[in-house]
Amino acid sequence: MSVRQAFNEMGYGLAPESDQEAREWLDAHKRRFGHMINGEWQYSRQSFNAINPATGENLARLARGAEKDVNAAVNAANAASGKWADLTGHERARFLYAIARSVQKHARLFATLESLDNGKPIRESRDIDIPLVVRHFYYHAGYAQIREQEYPDYVPVGVIGQIIPWNFPLLMLAWKVAPALAMGNTVILKAAEDTSLTALLFAEICQQAGLPPGVFNLVLGNAATGAALVRHDGVHKIAFTGSTVVGRQIRRTIAGSGKRLALELGGKSPYIVFEDADMDSAIEGLVDAIWFNQGQVCCAGSRLLIQESIADRFIQQLKRRMSRLIVGDSLDKNTDIGAIVSDTQLKRIQELVTRGVAEGAELWQPSVDKPDRGCFYPPTLLTGVEPANTIAQEEIFGPVLVALAFRTPAEAVELANNTRYGLAANIWTENINEAMHIAAQVKAGTIWINSANTFDASVGFGGYRESGFGREGGAEGVLEYLQRAAPVAVQPFEQRRMKKRLPSLGGSIDRTPKQYIGGKQTRPDSGYSDSSRDAAGNLIAELPKGNRKDARNAVEAARAASGWSAMTGHQRAQVLYFVAENLEYRREEFVRLIECLTGQSVKRAGDEFDQALSRLFTCAAYADKYEGSVRHPDKNRVALAMQEPLGVIAIAAPEESAFLGLVSTVFAAAAMGNRIVLVPSQTYALMATHLYQVLDTSDMPGGVINIICGQREELNTTLAGHGDVDGFWCWDSRESCAVIEELAAENMKRTWLSYGYYRDWHDDMTASGREFFEHAVEVKNIWVPYGV
Ligand code: NAD
Repeated sequence: MSVRQAFNEMGYGLAPESDQEAREWLDAHKRRFGHMINGEWQYSRQSFNAINPATGENLARLARGAEKDVNAAVNAANAASGKWADLTGHERARFLYAIARSVQKHARLFATLESLDNGKPIRESRDIDIPLVVRHFYYHAGYAQIREQEYPDYVPVGVIGQIIPWNFPLLMLAWKVAPALAMGNTVILKAAEDTSLTALLFAEICQQAGLPPGVFNLVLGNAATGAALVRHDGVHKIAFTGSTVVGRQIRRTIAGSGKRLALELGGKSPYIVFEDADMDSAIEGLVDAIWFNQGQVCCAGSRLLIQESIADRFIQQLKRRMSRLIVGDSLDKNTDIGAIVSDTQLKRIQELVTRGVAEGAELWQPSVDKPDRGCFYPPTLLTGVEPANTIAQEEIFGPVLVALAFRTPAEAVELANNTRYGLAANIWTENINEAMHIAAQVKAGTIWINSANTFDASVGFGGYRESGFGREGGAEGVLEYLQRAAPVAVQPFEQRRMKKRLPSLGGSIDRTPKQYIGGKQTRPDSGYSDSSRDAAGNLIAELPKGNRKDARNAVEAARAASGWSAMTGHQRAQVLYFVAENLEYRREEFVRLIECLTGQSVKRAGDEFDQALSRLFTCAAYADKYEGSVRHPDKNRVALAMQEPLGVIAIAAPEESAFLGLVSTVFAAAAMGNRIVLVPSQTYALMATHLYQVLDTSDMPGGVINIICGQREELNTTLAGHGDVDGFWCWDSRESCAVIEELAAENMKRTWLSYGYYRDWHDDMTASGREFFEHAVEVKNIWVPYGV
């Protein structure tokens, strides 16, 4: 080619990255790998191949973990757990620093190995994946160092089973392993079957860094290997990243076991472009949002929502840009779109696109060259799509963009939220007011304003709704690997003590209380009632017997009361203080009621009331103080970590210390802006029905607190299975909690379950404060341009 020709074409020549070092490393291991258990390589009888998806080449033979390998790894992690947890933060920090340094030193080897194994462009593994891995280990080494000062009342969770997907193999490992080890837990990691090589190199680095045997264990294998880890009794928490289908399955499997769980699942994130957006930047951002890592990104901006007035112009310019994307060899530094991870994934993409076209979408692909062999798929645009079409709802997990138009900002929000997922969203506009206004309304864990796919260890990442729960990164991510140090013991519920003489309730007791729904006293749908008896067994009132229909009505009322969530903390605090004030006026009546229902002495009943009143003040006090924070991950952006209420929380209140327990839970959730459907303890429900008379006189908006009495099991199951309930707090037996957890898996409700464990509601340290608020909110991280 002449210089003139080259100048006219301005094409890219080949710029291959050398894979020699990676191949030498594979050869040094004779291309055969086992699990890393208790600091040693261990092999299995069964094995499978690691394939390079760009060429089909077999890179290595890997052990496939069976139940016995999982057992060995869990045993090793348990054996190492005590010593590791007992190290000082500084001692653990040194190991994490050593790992960070070593990954940094071997960055090139890691990057090429990752691209060979996964098919992603070397530019991405070199400039994004590996530097972020290093950043995660440094960041969490810092958290290990300051753990004692920052979290004095916490201890590690114990042994953690971690299961990761194939799209960012080493990065997903780092997101999970770094915080877990930093906080003093030991780990069994199950790598994705398509991409295990960098995890193996990482295990070797841990060995070289002198990490004590058993602290980090790696098991290779497939779904069955992962399932064995999930089932294992020796594991205290499962941290899973992967598809929503598998996440749901895992949640159902562990329901009732008491294991903790974090789920980072799929997404179908909107990429919203307003007519005043900087179009060139928005197009470059979109290239990043959907074609980064071949679109195999959980938070890919896969749904373009474009304002109608600029739609044609934008799509034309986008097509021109798409035509310039280079599809090809993963190890070529010019490649924009590398190989899809496997044949199976490629087929899934092809099938979904075919289905989209069959449902009426218009397909456009640029005529780009792609290699003759290997798993490649061109950048693809689907227009003429309806919001209900499969391709607008299902995660395609490939380089496929679906475009829809909107007219008004309100319509953009409606389309953005028209998905069961809630992982991320991108908003493009030059109007900062509009951007922040939209950011507040979109239901997603991460929002990028005028940017896309930026990540940092200091900024938490995780989903709303069916994108899962739990966060990775940031202060919120660290808490995922800690638990309160307070000892909890299984104790029988406080028994009602029989007293010969109970006080007369006189005229202060409402003998025919009702349900409380939407701020109104309503009769139960069934027309039936239950008897309320005092501690001596005397009938004192007839309680309404609520059924499924009442529970559903209560949820509807709670949903409608969204104004409560939009109020400021200060406004909510004022209402709660007013509730406290009005409650205090009725002290005598409530004390008598507590005494009569529980059989406690008048002194103890009075103490319980006073403590409940103080708890209510605590909730009001925190309403405007438990707030988000600001992180500054790069020089051009800040991330606002906003604490948002879950929405509607069902609360099955505790039986023990019934009045105090009820006040501690209901008002903590309400203080954070949630609307509540309360199912009081059956024995003490009369206390809850008395509470609504206080709410009625306290400016509490109707629908914020709804009270349904009745058969607890029936009400719990209705609420746990209800798609419009966002969270469930339950203080009940292990069996009841298991049922709730299982039902909650359907719409991925956040649950906080006691599993029959007793909580001392009289202890201010364990029965109020941050732990309660952590369960009442989820963090939305909004990346905003800031700085030079
Ligand atoms: P997947 O759910 O099929 O597999 C994920 C992991 O789980 C693999 O290691 C697999 O072996 C294991 N696994 C599969 N079935 C299992 C079972 N029954 N029990 C235990 N383990 C099991 O997902 P994938 O196809 O590997 O990854 C793609 C998915 O991951 C996408 O849905 C994507 O959105 C999601 N993802 C989410 C995030 C996030 O942070 N939210 C990040 C990356 C990927």
